[in-house]
Amino acid sequence: MKRFQPFWFDEAIDSADLDLAKSLEHDIDTDACIVGGGFTGLWTAIMLKQARPALDVTVIDKGLCGQGASGRNGGAMLTWSTKFASLIKQFGLEQARFFVQNSEQAVHEIHQFTQRYGIDCDCRVDGTYYTASNQAQVVKLAPVLELLEKHRLNHWQLVDGHKLQATGSNANKRAIFSPHAGSIQPAKLVRGLRRIAIKLGVRIFEHTAYQSHGGGETLVISTQQGHTIRATSLTFAVNAWLPSLLSEFARSVVLVSSDMVITKPIPALLSKRNLRHGAPIIDARIFVNYYRTTPDGRLMLGKGGNYFSFANQVSRRFDQASRYSEMLEHSVKYFFGKALPIERTWTGPSDRSVSGMPFFGQLTGQDNVFYGSGYSGNGVVQSYLGGKILSALIMKQNNAWSRCALVNGQLSKFPFEPFRSVGAYTIRNAIRRKERAQDMGKVPSKLDIWLSGLSGSAAKLDPDVKGFG
Ligand SMILES: Cc1cc2nc3c(=O)[nH]c(=O)nc-3n(C[C@H](O)[C@H](O)[C@H](O)COP(=O)(O)OP(=O)(O)OC[C@H]3O[C@@H](n4cnc5c(N)ncnc54)[C@H](O)[C@@H]3O)c2cc1C
Repeated sequence: MKRFQPFWFDEAIDSADLDLAKSLEHDIDTDACIVGGGFTGLWTAIMLKQARPALDVTVIDKGLCGQGASGRNGGAMLTWSTKFASLIKQFGLEQARFFVQNSEQAVHEIHQFTQRYGIDCDCRVDGTYYTASNQAQVVKLAPVLELLEKHRLNHWQLVDGHKLQATGSNANKRAIFSPHAGSIQPAKLVRGLRRIAIKLGVRIFEHTAYQSHGGGETLVISTQQGHTIRATSLTFAVNAWLPSLLSEFARSVVLVSSDMVITKPIPALLSKRNLRHGAPIIDARIFVNYYRTTPDGRLMLGKGGNYFSFANQVSRRFDQASRYSEMLEHSVKYFFGKALPIERTWTGPSDRSVSGMPFFGQLTGQDNVFYGSGYSGNGVVQSYLGGKILSALIMKQNNAWSRCALVNGQLSKFPFEPFRSVGAYTIRNAIRRKERAQDMGKVPSKLDIWLSGLSGSAAKLDPDVKGFG
């Protein structure tokens, strides 16, 4: 029986979990209050406790931990290595190198953490394939490798012929493979992090929503349920909800849906397709198609860049069955040549920043109030690094994480509404027309190519690496 729309969350949570959810029922004092019990908030809480066991850490979530993006994403553990060129452009070579290397290492650190603490979340570090699923994408793959190679950072290899069959689809003309990646069942990971955080002494209150805060050295945080938390620091790890909670971020992101479909178990078909592994397969278009399998033989396929919410409201549309199921089914047929038996569709909000990178820091004039958001659809591994950044900031540590280029940077802004939504849909539709033409081996119109170029850093694979490094 379905209780929650996202398949993963529904699968991960049992009735004991629901009974155990505790909300805040009186006023409390704490050292570090974290708003948001997704990956970012929970990694931050865990890292604080690991570094300073005596610190009192409290996490509040307006729903259940993991009900945001963390419990409903594709579970693809990807790194920033395919964004090396745009990282160099934005932050310089040394910081780009730092982010690429640490994101690759983070994949293995997350895996080790799940093993050490016994989190059963189907964590499979089987690598990843980025593919060209039409002829126009073929030219995009090699330059990314060459740039990494030039800086002795390359762990990718070109894949064709027999090895290409591991991507399971004849639509993939070519691929690059990296071993530093994998997949997880995201809701099982986030619920596991919640369990470990509690074990380490973090206090977690669910169904407890942040409303406002005031004060100076000691902050006074009010919850929507009418209680007060007095805290030395406050951290917003609220992802898509940041623009509605803090108006200074109203134009720092656009919220856009990522839409997902999962099949019923089809292990025999997946075996025939060489798909009994945990490596996500991602094509090289701007609004990627990506798919991965589960150990029990299901296939999940996701596609980003669909519904843009007006004024960045996290509307109910983000918590329903996907309105784009026809498009998802079209992608399934594109890769597998036929319809597959569908179990469920769902969706969720991605917080796209102008740069395509997350941002962290302190609120102006409030140096004990922190934030982290803007993962732009690449957050499973990156929120672990977000935990390193935020915990270093909260503990006032002067280290490579608190000093890194993602902290307190100048944030570019998207246009005001209604221009933002109109522009987003215009560009989205041009990208769709361009990619549809390329799928059919046709040349897209010049206008659509030009409009698609305005999407900036939206792609998972840097579109243009010429002239960098
Ligand atoms: C459909 C989808 C697919 C994706 N697929 C991938 C993928 O395959 N790979 C990848 O790397 N990334 C993917 N991402 C991105 C990734 O899921 C996110 O970047 C990551 O989960 C962000 O974690 P978070 O903890 O910052 O946010 P969230 O998990 O969204 O957590 C924020 C929490 O804040 C809580 N909150 C909000 N407002 C309040 C309030 N007022 N008071 C208290 N609590 C509040 C929410 O309830 C929520 O639990 C995907 C995202 C989506 C939506």
